[in-house]
Amino acid sequence: MLNRMIYAAVIFAMLLTIPNISLAVLENKFDTKGEVATADTKSSNEGNETKESQEGNDEEILETYSIEEPELIKVYNVKTNDVMVIDFEDYLKGVVASEMPAEFNIEALKAQVITARTYLLYRMKKYPEGQPEHTDAPICSGTHCQVWTSKEDLIASHDDGWYDAYWGKIEESVNSTRGQILTYEGKIIEPLFHSASGGRTENSEDVFSASVPYLRSVESPYESEAPKLHASVKVTVSDFINKIESVYGDLGLTKDNLDDMIVLGEVSEGGKIKTLLVNGAEITGREMRSIFGLNSTNFSFIQTGNEIEIVTTGYGHGVGMSQWGADGMAEEGYNYKEILKHYYTGVEIVSMK
Ligand SMILES: [Zn+2]
Repeated sequence: MLNRMIYAAVIFAMLLTIPNISLAVLENKFDTKGEVATADTKSSNEGNETKESQEGNDEEILETYSIEEPELIKVYNVKTNDVMVIDFEDYLKGVVASEMPAEFNIEALKAQVITARTYLLYRMKKYPEGQPEHTDAPICSGTHCQVWTSKEDLIASHDDGWYDAYWGKIEESVNSTRGQILTYEGKIIEPLFHSASGGRTENSEDVFSASVPYLRSVESPYESEAPKLHASVKVTVSDFINKIESVYGDLGLTKDNLDDMIVLGEVSEGGKIKTLLVNGAEITGREMRSIFGLNSTNFSFIQTGNEIEIVTTGYGHGVGMSQWGADGMAEEGYNYKEILKHYYTGVEIVSMK
């Protein structure tokens, strides 16, 4: 044992260029929380830091947005390479069941349904001639857009009893929020989401290039149930140095000088590492995440002799709604509107015609 040191401590995430991390796909197995009852709407605002806009009345009549609800939509199937034409409501069921565990609180599922509906409408509006990577459809069934799985495949990929236990709940989350989408200043938003922020979400410009007014860093205090909230990757010191220097060239790193050579640079408002300075060279947290396959860019290093452990907090890019945070809020009694307005700053929930 030579030394043990911690030379960068912070927290967070970025999932390369994939806009939305698919929690259910990435976390196939997790501890279920038992049968989840519908959250009661005790409408307590305690601890909710959302900029609650106007009204304050939970049962306000939703503004009718000037977009007609589609009946059938085109989806590019990444498994079959076909363009499918699917019933809009069925599509939403296949997305929410793919992107969020059905064991989650129904208020969290409703929030996910509204992000799914909004995301589709956003894509349709942005790419009326087809998305450049799948030109025959505005949206695909993979992580490139948002994951959709057919009912048959969902049943096949879950344990016996899943359909009976959860399909009704999935249908309810879609039916009870019918037509509802998110807007900001009258425009459909791009509702990014991620698995778990690690305690605070990110400003969009700290992860992607653009500053988006509704994708602001907010507290995400109820993520303790997230199974991958804390994780670590272990590498030998020589692998650690080789991997960094294979990208950045010889930086003069040795087993004994890492704590002097690696200095924390910029940290985002959400607490993730934006940059490290390594013997004068700037390395972004995103690059470190990519090089070492980290869950997030909220990481720290611990060197013990010839081994380095890279410890991460959170999972995903950290922008927009935290799925585990949404479930945690729902378990605390917040409803889907409160959850959405917490994670998407200044948005309205409106109803399509
Ligand atoms: Zn796509």
